[in-house]
Formats: sequence, structure tokens, C-alpha cells
Amino acid sequence: MVEVYKFGGSSLKNAEGIRNLRQIVADVDQCLVLVVSALGKTTNALEEVVQASFEPTNTWRQKLDSIQEFHEIIASDLLPEPDVFLDTILRPSFDALARKLEDPPAGSFDFVYDQVVSMGEIWSTLLIHHYLVATGLDFRFIDIREYLITDSNYREGRVAWDQSGFLIRKGFACTGKEKYITQGFIAGAENGYATTLGREGSDYTAAILAYILNAQQVTIWKDVPGVMNADPEDYPHPKKLVEIPYQEAIELAFFGAKVIHPKTIKPLYNKKIPLWVKSYKDASGEGTLIHEMEQAPKLIPVFVRKRNQVLISILPRDLSFVIDEGLGRIFNQIDTHKVKVNLIQNSAVSISLCVDRFDERVERLISELSMDFKVLHNTNVELITIRHYTDESIREMISGKTILIEQKTRSTVNYVIKTG
Ligand code: ADP
Ligand code: ASP
Ligand code: MG
Repeated sequence: MVEVYKFGGSSLKNAEGIRNLRQIVADVDQCLVLVVSALGKTTNALEEVVQASFEPTNTWRQKLDSIQEFHEIIASDLLPEPDVFLDTILRPSFDALARKLEDPPAGSFDFVYDQVVSMGEIWSTLLIHHYLVATGLDFRFIDIREYLITDSNYREGRVAWDQSGFLIRKGFACTGKEKYITQGFIAGAENGYATTLGREGSDYTAAILAYILNAQQVTIWKDVPGVMNADPEDYPHPKKLVEIPYQEAIELAFFGAKVIHPKTIKPLYNKKIPLWVKSYKDASGEGTLIHEMEQAPKLIPVFVRKRNQVLISILPRDLSFVIDEGLGRIFNQIDTHKVKVNLIQNSAVSISLCVDRFDERVERLISELSMDFKVLHNTNVELITIRHYTDESIREMISGKTILIEQKTRSTVNYVIKTG
């Protein structure tokens, strides 16, 4: 029997969080695969290092120093004898990265991104592994870059399932009560370089490992009591959903409920592996169970808000019908530039896309499309979704807001609204 646990950055932002993780894993009495993210907001900070390393100044060094200091403070607070770990493991690893960054970037932005950003998960697992072993728990460290293999689609690696399955079943042998710790979010390409699975992808790693190892269940430990009917950061008194079917979880994750990464559900659904979302602050709490349900439960309205969206409107220059003339070309460009589309709406002569944050991919897409079409874009928008909406929930959500797009099905309503 295999159990998979995943701890994210929010549960690992200080030494206390890691002590708490230890308490939770110490209770497990069967084979355990522990998947861990980078500590706190390390991934964001490493993204800034990558960005800076492509600029002519040396500001990446100062940014990397602060990340190192953050890790050293936690290690010193946590480990009984931190010096050995710091001198022989952590500092040499930071030094090696700094030496690489001193040279001009060797490769595309996405390639360099994965080589640098993946180190966040390596440092966190090295530190947590060291601590678990130093405090008497027999965990084995697995560098997932050698087991979970993806193609070279940097920043959104696509899993090579057969190859990974073979390696993972060998690496994570579960015949009794073995304990393994490994990294979420990162993987390796066949050429030996690191890849990543997309931001917030550690939940997905937990699901991939559970699928391959035929785990009994997966638990993702979060800073919330479970999946709520709204993000507690936005709404003061959300209600917890006790159990939901896989289909519901996919919809919520797709529209932006960041409590679960959208890719997590499919591998679990394919083998009907239950997923628990529980609070690391209250490990004995019931959490939310996501599983196969014969009858979908009657759910209360669930609110999802996806911030930092971009609304792109594409119009043929000569008022020809966009569906006839350009749809194929438009979708081709979206695919080429790997832009994530959250909502599409068309009229006779225009097509509107609501996509994730304005980054270099969106910029490239817009400039490419502008060669053939008139393209307008608005960055001050967000996407609001209500599942199982009622008239009252709609009123509550959108009153006083400027709606740019509305889309309604029987179970879901989406609004693209103006924020500025
Ligand atoms: P981790 O670092 O552990 O992966 P995340 O920060 O990615 O954790 O996800 C947990 C966060 O998801 C919560 O702090 C909460 O603000 C947010 N969230 C968004 N929508 C929901 C929801 N419907 N239910 C619970 N949490 C939600
Ligand atoms: N550390 C990665 C990120 O912040 C992966 C994760 O947390 O799931 O995106
Ligand atoms: Mg997350």
C-alpha cells in the first residue's frame, strides 16, 4: 500500500512549518512518498533571478543571496548541527548556481528558467531530508529529475509516461513501510537537463507518482481546511465542501481555484485514486475528499476568481467573417506560443480570448497575430466564475462591476470584468 503526501511552499515557509511536516509524516505506518515544493515563495524569487540574469546588470546576485540567506536561516533554526549541512551541501549548491549565472545565459529563456528555478525544490528537499534523518526518521532522498522524464518543452514539460513509469516503479520500491522524499514541480528531460511542469505543479507531481505507483490515496496538505466554496483570501466566511466528484474539482481548478493544480485530477481519475485536501494546521481535521461519486452532490454556489487576465480581441482588417477566415491561423498561433486560453467568445467579425497574465508569451502571440489581424488587448481584467450559480450569487458577485464578457451554461457562469 502506498500513500502520497504533498506539502507546498505555504506550509514550508519557516522552520516551524517543517517541524509540523515531520509530525504529520511520523504518524504514517505504510509506504510513504513525500512530495515537497520549494520553501515559501522561493520559486517567485528564483523567477526574478532568471529575469535579472538576462539583463545587463548584476542584480541577480543580490537576489540569489537573499534566497540563500532565507534557506540558511531556516536550516540554522531547524537542524541540530547546521554547519555540516551548510558547508558541505547548501553553500556549494548555491555557489555552483552563481558560477553558472556569471556567464551569459546559455540557451533560451525557458531553458535557463528551468535550470535555475528547479533548484528551489532541490534545496528544500535536501534540507527537509537532512532534518528528517537527523531527527530519527528513515527517509530516502530521490532526485526526481532522474525518474520523472518529460520532453524538452521547458516550463511545461510533457510527461513521458512509459519511461517514467519504468523508472519510478524501480526507484520508489514499496514493499513495506519505506519512506521516500522527492521534489514536486520539477522533472528531467532525456538530454539530462531539468524541466518543470508549470507553476504550482507539485500537486500534479503527487498525482503522477500516485498513478504510476497505484497509490491508495493522495493527500495535499494546505493552509486551508479543504476546498472551500470561495478563496478564503477573497471572501471572509467561505464554506468547506466535504466531498466533490473529480469532474467538479477539474472545473474549479481550470477556472482558477489555485488550491489544486488543474492537471492533478486526470491521472487520479484514471485510476480512481481518492484525493484529500487537508489542512496542515489541523492534521486530524476531515478536509475535502475528491473521488468518484455515483451521484453528483447538490452543491452550493462556488466562486472562483482568476486575477491578472488579458482580454485579447482579434478582428480581420476588412470585416470578413473571422470564423471563415482566420480561426485555424489564430489557434495555430495560440498553440505555437503556448498561451493558456481560459475563455473564448466570438461574434461575426471578432474573436475574444481571455488568457493568463501578460507575459512574454502573450506579447509574442499578440505581435504575431497583429501581422494578419487587428488586435486589441486589455490587461486590466479578471475572470470570475460561479459554479452552481443562483440569481442571488450572481448579484453578490457582479453588482457594481463593469462586465466585458458574460458566458452562461446550465452549471457555470463566467464573467470577464474590468478591474481598472
Ligand atoms: P501550496 O503552496 O500548498 O500549493 P497554494 O497557495 O498553492 O498552496 O494553495 C492554497 C491556497 O489556495 C489557499 O491559501 C487559498 O488562498 C487558495 N484558494 C483558492 N481557491 C480556493 C478554494 N476554493 N478553497 C480553498 N483554497 C483556495
Ligand atoms: N514551487 C513551485 C511553484 O511555486 C511548484 C509548487 O509550489 O507547486 O510554482
Ligand atoms: Mg500551490
